[in-house]
Amino acid sequence: MKHIADKCTGCRTCQLICSLSHDGECNPSLARVILHADGLRMRAEFTSDCDECARCARYCPYGAMEEGE
Ligand code: SF4
Ligand code: SF4
Repeated sequence: MKHIADKCTGCRTCQLICSLSHDGECNPSLARVILHADGLRMRAEFTSDCDECARCARYCPYGAMEEGE
């Protein structure tokens, strides 16, 4: 997965859809993508449990996630 920091608002929809679809609850701490504040931008880190399902990309309201490296 690829995160486009310039488009990311930090809304955490990606984490909510990831945890909801994999763990059955909206809980950002369970998400397979971790968001880090990096100055005024957000940086995304995908955990080893990320299965590349790309739901985070499909549901990101700002087009800040894409499939691929
Ligand atoms: S859903 Fe998109 S804009 Fe929102 S935090 Fe995730 S990557 Fe950033
Ligand atoms: S690709 Fe799937 S498993 Fe990986 S962070 Fe996005 S929603 Fe979660």
